[in-house]
Amino acid sequence: MSKVLIIGAGGVGTVVAHKVAQHPEVFTEVMIASRTQSKCDAIVKAIGNPNIKTAKVDADNVAELVALFNSFKPEIVINVALPYQDLTIMEACLQAGVNYLDTANYEPKDEAHFEYSWQWAYKKRFEDAGLTAILGCGFDPGVSGVYTAYAAKHHFDEMHYLDLDIVDCNAGNHHKAFATNFNPEINIREITQNGRYWEGGKWVTTKPLEFHKDLTYPNIGPRDSYLLYHEELESLVKNFPTIKRARFWMTFGQEYLTHLRVIQNIGMASIEPINYNGMEIVPLQFLKAVLPNPQDLGENYEGETSIGCRIRGVKDGKERTYYVYNNCSHQAAYKETGMQGVSYTTGVPAMIGAMMFLKGLWKRPGVWNVEEFDPDPFMEALNMYGLPWHEVFDGDLEL
Ligand code: NDP
Repeated sequence: MSKVLIIGAGGVGTVVAHKVAQHPEVFTEVMIASRTQSKCDAIVKAIGNPNIKTAKVDADNVAELVALFNSFKPEIVINVALPYQDLTIMEACLQAGVNYLDTANYEPKDEAHFEYSWQWAYKKRFEDAGLTAILGCGFDPGVSGVYTAYAAKHHFDEMHYLDLDIVDCNAGNHHKAFATNFNPEINIREITQNGRYWEGGKWVTTKPLEFHKDLTYPNIGPRDSYLLYHEELESLVKNFPTIKRARFWMTFGQEYLTHLRVIQNIGMASIEPINYNGMEIVPLQFLKAVLPNPQDLGENYEGETSIGCRIRGVKDGKERTYYVYNNCSHQAAYKETGMQGVSYTTGVPAMIGAMMFLKGLWKRPGVWNVEEFDPDPFMEALNMYGLPWHEVFDGDLEL
C-alpha cells in the first residue's frame, strides 16, 4: 500500500495526477488536494478514475495540513502548490510523519528571493524523524540535477574544468501576445531579478537579462538565450565542488521581452501592495488574474521544449564535452494530459521522484537535492515514462 497525496491542482498538479494514475502498481491510493476542491474534482473527471480522492486544504495553514495528513495517512506528499507553501508543508510532514517532495524552492511572498537555506535548515529534523524530503524534483530544478549527477558518475573522471550550462528553451508558439508557461506570478518574479552565476569560487551578479547569446537547440535551431539565476545552481556547485563555472540560460522571444519591459515600466510587476478603492492589492497578483492561465495554453501550443545540460570536463586525462537533453512536444503532452509541455516536463519528474522513493531507491532520512541520489534508476524511468533523453559527446557546446 503506497498512498500519495498531491497538493496543488494547477498545470503541474494535473500532469502529476495523470502520471501517478498510470502506475497503480506503485501508487495504490491517490488524493489531490488544493485550495479549490472543484479543480481537483475536474482533474479526477478528466482522468476518469473515480477512486482518486480529492480534498480542500489551505497549505499555508499547518494545522489544516496536519489534520488532512492524519486522516488520509499518505506515505509521501508531492507538493506542486506554489513555492510559498514549501515550509508549511514540510512542517506539517514532520508533525504527521509524512515524507516530502517538491519542484521549487521556498520563496517568501513579500520578497522576490529564493535560496535553499530555509529548506536545508530542516535537514536534522527530517533525519531525526526518519523521513525523506526530496527538493526540486521537476525538470529545472530536477532533471537538470539528475543529468549532472549522471554525467559525473559515468562520463567524467574529474570535474575540475567543468563548465556547466543548463539550457531551457521554451520554443513553442501558443498564439497569445503574452503568456507565461507556468504560474505568471512566480515566473515574472524569477526573471525580473538580477542574474547570477558561479565562477572561480564565487557568485557573480548581473543586471536582469543583461547577458544573452544565440544557442542552438536540437530540432529547433538557434534561439537568443538569456543568463538568469536559477535555484539548482546553488545546490549543484555545493554538491559538485570542482565546478568552476555554472550558469543557467533561458530563451525568450522579442515579443515576450517587449511586453515584460512594458509591464515593469508601468509598475505591474511590483509585489508592493497598493491601495485601490480602499482595497489592498498586489499589482503582480492582479496581473496574474488577467493574463492567460498557463493551463489553458495547451490546446493551441505548437512546437517543443528543449532542456539540457552542456558540460565540459576531463575524462581519461583528456578534455571532453557532454550534452544531454530532452525535447518535449507541447501537442503530445496535451494529448496525454491536457496540459502543455512545461507542465508536463515538471510533472513527470515529480511522479518519478515519488516512485523512486516508494520503491526504496531514493529513500534516505534527511533533506536532499535530487543530485544527491543515484541518477541511474531515475534516468531509466525518464526514458520509460515520457521524457526520453539524448546524448552528444565531444560536440561544440557553443559556450
Ligand atoms: P499553478 O498556479 O497552475 O498551480 C498552483 C496550484 O497550487 C493551484 O491549484 C493553487 O490552487 C494551488 N495553491 C496555491 N496556493 C495554495 C494554498 N495556499 N493551499 C493549497 N493550494 C494552493 O502553478 P503550476 O502548476 O504552473 O506550478 C506549480 C509549481 O511547480 C510551482 O511551485 C512552480 O514554481 C513549480 N514549477 C517547477 C518547475 C520545475 O521544472 N522545477 C517548472 C514549472 C513550475 P488554486 O487554483 O485553488 O488557487
